[in-house]
Amino acid sequence: MKYDKNNIFAKILRGEISCNKVYENDYVLSFYDTNPQKKLHVLVIPKGEYIDLDHFNTEASEKEIIEFSKSITHVSKLLKISNSEKGYRVLSNTGQNGGQEVPHLHFHIFGGEPIGKMII
Ligand code: 5GP
Repeated sequence: MKYDKNNIFAKILRGEISCNKVYENDYVLSFYDTNPQKKLHVLVIPKGEYIDLDHFNTEASEKEIIEFSKSITHVSKLLKISNSEKGYRVLSNTGQNGGQEVPHLHFHIFGGEPIGKMII
């Protein structure tokens, strides 16, 4: 599968579409989801062109993988939902059966209230 440079998150990364930014560094961008499923619903995406977690773990550099992973904890602290506060859930839909809609790797971070059962 080829990366689609016109997916919505690629447009956000290029600044063609605005976002409500939470955090950004050289490797990642984090912003609020426009259709929040919980009180706090934030997305974290790598800046590189990766379709999903499998693509990322196969093609990304170790630095990109480390930075992406660490950014989740960093964002959780910025949002004051880290485990030393009340905690959160991370989710990444992958492919058709995973229900992925946007073909640029993203982690959802849910928090700010009890998230409930893992699968509804
Ligand atoms: P997926 O189903 O691919 O795991 O999740 C895609 C997410 O992207 C959805 O939660 C959806 O609400 C969010 N989303 C779609 N378009 C936009 C957009 O233009 N801006 C932002 N901030 N979120 C978006």
